[in-house]
Order: sequence, then structure tokens, then C-alpha cells
Amino acid sequence: VDSHKAPREALGPRLVKGALYTYVRPEITHSPELLAVSERAMEDLGLKPGEEQTQEFKSVVAGNNIISWDDETEEGIYPWAQCYGGYQFGQWAGQLGDGRAISLFETINPATNTRYELQLKGAGKTPYSRFADGKAVLRSSIREFIVSEYLNAISIPTTRALSLTLCSRSRVQRERIEPGAIVARFSESWLRLGTFDLIRMRADRPLMRQLATYTAEHVYGGWDTLPSKLAPGDIKTTSLNTATNVSASTTEGSGPEAENRFVRLYREVCRRNAKTVAAWQAYGFMNGVLNTDNTSVLGLSIDFGPFAFLDSFDPTYTPNHDDHMLRYSYRNQPSVIWWNLVRFGEALGELMGAGAGVDEAEFVEKGVKQEAVKELVERAEAVIERTGEEYKAVFLAEYKRLMTARLGLKTHKEEDFESLFSEWLDLLEEHELDFHHAFRRLGRVALKDLETEGGRKDVAGLFFAKEPPMEEGAARGRIAAWLAKWGERVREDWGEARDQERMGEMMKVNPKFVPRSWILDEVIERVERKGERDILPGIMRMVLDPFRETWGWDGETEERFCGDVPKYKGMLQCSCSS
Ligand code: AMP
Ligand code: MG
Ligand code: MG
Repeated sequence: VDSHKAPREALGPRLVKGALYTYVRPEITHSPELLAVSERAMEDLGLKPGEEQTQEFKSVVAGNNIISWDDETEEGIYPWAQCYGGYQFGQWAGQLGDGRAISLFETINPATNTRYELQLKGAGKTPYSRFADGKAVLRSSIREFIVSEYLNAISIPTTRALSLTLCSRSRVQRERIEPGAIVARFSESWLRLGTFDLIRMRADRPLMRQLATYTAEHVYGGWDTLPSKLAPGDIKTTSLNTATNVSASTTEGSGPEAENRFVRLYREVCRRNAKTVAAWQAYGFMNGVLNTDNTSVLGLSIDFGPFAFLDSFDPTYTPNHDDHMLRYSYRNQPSVIWWNLVRFGEALGELMGAGAGVDEAEFVEKGVKQEAVKELVERAEAVIERTGEEYKAVFLAEYKRLMTARLGLKTHKEEDFESLFSEWLDLLEEHELDFHHAFRRLGRVALKDLETEGGRKDVAGLFFAKEPPMEEGAARGRIAAWLAKWGERVREDWGEARDQERMGEMMKVNPKFVPRSWILDEVIERVERKGERDILPGIMRMVLDPFRETWGWDGETEERFCGDVPKYKGMLQCSCSS
């Protein structure tokens, strides 16, 4: 970690022990061109509109100006790359680390008091680059830039993107030679579950304790912000109407885990991830590569490679061309995140297994008795098992909360899950209706148009693409029947008189614009091959405000991007190379 005095070339590939980062400087970028910034990101970082036009801004986000460090006096904050490991596709993959991301500094927005770590992706090799080049291609950088800001706009926890810079002179070798780019991105934390996996594999007990403590105190804002002990029966008996019910109990119990802070940390990490994956499911988003190094300790959506949004509802769909086992398919996301969280529980096992009044360091230092180890392991396993129940409960509660809102309801009734949610999704799947348009269009359906069978069948036609599904008549009949049930529930929740209000609420949770794969492909093509410069700022208007009807950019393109998915461009897959 004292390597900042070494020249760049001396920082060869390395296994880093006893530390989780290495100082490293971004490479100089020749003739950088700032292609786009996110206005929302500027605001959230406390930057003023127009500041992105300054030379200083442009050189910082291109990696050419390390504003936090003074080379003369050797004072300040030196850039660093993080060290982590991970399970990739279920197999332990060893040390990975930021092979092409370099953190520059942390910054606090004084207005919100939120601290962010700003980093550059694609700014050159780090000691963790292994055999790769430390670069990112323009294609994948455009995708990451857009999706980070889009997920944030629809309120899904995510790492963020500030800017996209084209490295005009860099040529990067992938399947073909491609232009390189740098995304300046920021997050409240870049720690991954894989960071903990690495320490566990190295059996570095002091470092595990140090990182878990750091996570609680500095990433989560203190031990007292973490949930307290669950009372017996908390999980099973609470209503699932709101996610927060699950930990409503604030009294510290008397079981062995009552005082164990690390159990509380574990539960909070699991809860955050449960909520995020619930939001992915409700909005049809897939990460594509949910390895443990791509799972955030803060429950953020992180590392955007072959991600995608569903076009139609196909639970077996995976956006990742190389994922033959469908490990990271839509329907597997909740269970695969739990799989990652079980590995995380194993990493924290020793810290969590220590009981009340027992310092777990004793187990380590004093040569442990066999029974003591057995007890510790049993306790940790029990924590993981119980937290699995909590994870499911939080996931379901959040999923129900979001689907309830997306379907325009105010309350959730037990039978809604089967009779409304499941049947709705079955309809979308069987008739290959557009997943996102369906919700948006439902928000325009007025109760008064559902009064007669004929009316409902007419309304059903709204859900079709320009080219109606095969067996159009059967589809109309089934949708009409569902609409009748749905209309009843809406009437129950809102009453007839407040139908307009209900429609307004639905528009706020069902986006009109979704950055689907075919749209990203078109944007990439136009920027990369045709050299267009206006399309990125244009589409960013849609990305940052996806619930609007129009954006005052380019009416024709806006409508096309919000219309039917062109033939043969639905459910595209993407390779991992980026
Ligand atoms: P990912 O599949 O994006 O999670 O990446 C897995 C690991 O490979 C991470 O440690 C990345 O930093 C590293 N990596 C991916 N692409 C590159 C590259 N072009 N140069 C250096 N490291 C890379
Ligand atoms: Mg990764
Ligand atoms: Mg990646």
C-alpha cells in the first residue's frame, strides 16, 4: 500500500495480502472527448450546471488531472484500486480486484451529507488487471452510463454514472478493434460481497473484523442504524404488507445473538439486497452476471455487463449469451442473490457465531476446543438459516408493494398475488405482450370503459402491438376477464370518483421509456459508426425522466423508442466481452 512512490510501470500484477487496495494512477488519455454528463448526477454530487464545461472537469473525468493529490509536495489523496475476489458462475475464482476501475477521491455533498467514492472505469491497468488491458470499450461504457442513471431514475438502488468520455486515440482489441471510453462513476460504496469472500479464503481474521466493522460504521452509518434482534415469530406472523414490518421489534432479546453486532450487519445487508432484487423483478431488469463480485454490500445494482430489460415476460430469459445454464436468468435472480448472501454469511461466520459475552477472538487465539468450534459453527448456521427466512419475507413484501403500486392499487390482499399478479404475468407471457407497455397502458384504462363485456374486449386490444397476437380472439377474452377482476379491486381501493387520481399515480410508477437492448444498440451504432453527437444528450432526457409523455427532444425518435420492439430485435442477448 505504500506503492504510490513507485513509478506506474513498477506496478505489475500482484497478489495483495493484508490490504484491500493498491495506490495506482490512471493512464493519461490523449485527446479525450466528453460525450455526455448526467445532470442528475451533477446535482447529486453538488456540482453546478455548466461546471461540466470547464477544462478542469473534463480533465478530471478523463483521468488526466488528479485534483486530490499534489505531485510536488506528495500530499493529498492518491488514487487507488480495490482488491476483491469472487465466485463466478458458482466457482471460487480467486483474487479479482478492480482490473480497470481506479478511485480518485471521496466527496460529500454538503446539501444531503451523502458521501460518494468517485472512480474512473476504463482508465488503464491496475495491479489487478491480470491478463487484460484495463480498458473499457465505448459500446459497454454507453450501456453502463445509461443504465446506471436509468435505474436511479426509477428508484432502484444503484451505483451511479457522472460522465462518459471518448478516448479518441485509443483502439481496444476485443472481437474487433473498438474505440475506448471512460465512465466516471460514483457510489456510496464499491464494496462487494466478493471483498469479504477474498478475506475468508485467505483466513485473514483481523482484516475480516476490520472490514465488517468499517462497513457497519462507515458504509451503513453506524451500528445503531442496523436492525435489532428479531423477536421469536417476527418473520412468520407479521403481515407482509410492508417490508419494514419484518423488523418492527426494537427490544433486544436475550438469545445468544442479542448483542452480536455482526449478525445485525449481516441481516441488514441481506435485507437491502432482498429489496433491490425485488425491484429488479418488478421492473423486469436483469443484471446478467450476478457473481459475488457483482453483488454490492449496500444492496446496490452494480457492474453492468450483459444486462437487459425484459421485452415480453419470459422468466427463463437471460440476457447473457454465455450463460447456457440460465444461472442468471430473470427467474433465478432472487435465489442466486441469496446464494451469494450465504457465501457472505460464511465469510462473517466466525464473527456471527460468537455468543453473548464471548469474544470471538478467544476462539482464535486460545487454541479452540472442539465443542466450542462446533457451537460457533452451529450458531452461525442458525443465523444464516433464519436470515434466509427474513430475506424471503423482505423480498416478497417489497415485490408485493411494488406490484401493488404498478397495478394501481392502494392495498394488498392475500388473494391478489394469485388472482391479479400471477394471472397478469401469465397473460403477458402467453400472448407475448410487451411487459413495460402493458403496465403503462393499464394506467390509461378508465373504470367506466370496463362496465360491459364488449367494452372490456375493446380495452383488451390496447395491449396488443401493432401486429396483434396469434389467436387474437382468445387473447381478448382472457384479458377482458382479467380486466373485470382488476376493475373490481381498483373500485374497492379508490372508488369510482377518484379514477383520474388513480391513473395519475400509475403514471408515476410505470415508465413510458425503458432503455431496452435494441435502443442501446441503435444509440451505440449512431455514436460509434456515424459519429452523431446529439443523440446521447437527447436520450439522457428520457433516461432521467422516464415517466413523462414527451421530452421535447425529437418527437419522432421519442415515439419510436417508446413504441413496439422492432421485429427480430426483442429479447436480444449480449456477450460478456466489454
Ligand atoms: P466482471 O465480469 O465485469 O465482473 O469482471 C470480472 C473481473 O475482471 C473484474 O475484476 C474486472 O475488473 C476484470 N476485468 C474485466 N475486464 C477487464 C479489462 N478489460 N481489463 C482489466 N480487468 C478487467
Ligand atoms: Mg465485476
Ligand atoms: Mg463488469
